[in-house]
Amino acid sequence: MATDYYQVLGVPRDATAEQVKKAYRKLAMKYHPDVADEPDAAEKFKQIGEAYEVLQDPDKRDIYDRGGDPLGGGFSGMGSFGFGTAGFDFTNLVDAMFGAGTTSNRGPRSRVQRGQNSLIRLRLTLAEAVFGVTKPVKVNVAVLCTRCNGTGGEAGSEPVTCTACQGRGEVIQVQRSFLGDIRTSSPCSACRGFGTVIPNPCVECSGEGRVRAGRTISVKIPAGVDTGNRIHLDSQGEVGPGGGPAGDLFVELSVAKHDVFTRHQDDLELAVSVPMTAAALGTEIKLRTLEAERDDLDPEDGEILVSIPAGTQSGTRVAVPGKGVPRLRGRGRGDLGVTMIVETPQHLDEEQRELLRQLAALRDEGRPEVQVAAKQGRGVFNWLKDAFS
Ligand SMILES: [Zn+2]
Ligand SMILES: [Zn+2]
Repeated sequence: MATDYYQVLGVPRDATAEQVKKAYRKLAMKYHPDVADEPDAAEKFKQIGEAYEVLQDPDKRDIYDRGGDPLGGGFSGMGSFGFGTAGFDFTNLVDAMFGAGTTSNRGPRSRVQRGQNSLIRLRLTLAEAVFGVTKPVKVNVAVLCTRCNGTGGEAGSEPVTCTACQGRGEVIQVQRSFLGDIRTSSPCSACRGFGTVIPNPCVECSGEGRVRAGRTISVKIPAGVDTGNRIHLDSQGEVGPGGGPAGDLFVELSVAKHDVFTRHQDDLELAVSVPMTAAALGTEIKLRTLEAERDDLDPEDGEILVSIPAGTQSGTRVAVPGKGVPRLRGRGRGDLGVTMIVETPQHLDEEQRELLRQLAALRDEGRPEVQVAAKQGRGVFNWLKDAFS
């Protein structure tokens, strides 16, 4: 046993554990190879570590005090954490504490990554939503840089290994503490973690491999879509860094309000006013359906006849099958709901008034007995709302 561990640490034979720790800390900082100038600092540092290993452990200290070799001829006596022979290196300890491989398994990150998805919004007319449409849509997303084809370098400029991190993509900071060296790694700022640098970056994309560009794509909207529906376009989103595969593009739809038609699920609804006489006698009315707004049809193709039975009351809804919204999932179309609002005539002339008086007399309605209606106090529009819902 050539080395006197007490002498190495500069502590008395009866030093307390606290004294040993203090002395070790002071010396370890002084002789750490990163800071010490002395040519034999590394050797000294090793000795200090060895001395501390023995003296801080009551069992080993006991063996040593009795003249034995507590390290058993090597440095294996440390159990799970071995002291490195080249110095007092706690990398293993840190690895053990924070999970092995914290510094070794991470390589440089790839320049090429998948791009992000993008979302754009598209407003449709009701007719476009109901019948479907193919629309040109302006998209402004990252696209592949055509100058460098995504490589990020000017012609003939290959990426070279980063000298700052030797291609590892990360730099290790060693922080000295009582525990030893605490090593933390962070992405190399010289190469942004790629491990390589492009000596002559593409002038078009500054080495990104992609550029932002506006383009117009054709988006096919199926018949029957509604506000909130999204069209999913594969690989039409942002091209990734380094010219990586593009993300997807989502087109979120919103449908503008129509002056005449309202949509309720697969039905289209409209309200028509019917003169009192027509409602009483029954008639047929000509209606323009939403079809009249289709570019591929003649406006007359969008006209239908709806018969109003005699005695139709205000608020009556007549359903015209198959003239509603095509079902997005499934077959067929909903109805066109036609709700009648019976109009009481205004601005009567004397002759009309006289005829109505005669009618009233005939029907014995000159002074009608008022019946309390079920819908008392409710306007036509509340009534309509009921009819629609
Ligand atoms: Zn480029
Ligand atoms: Zn680097």
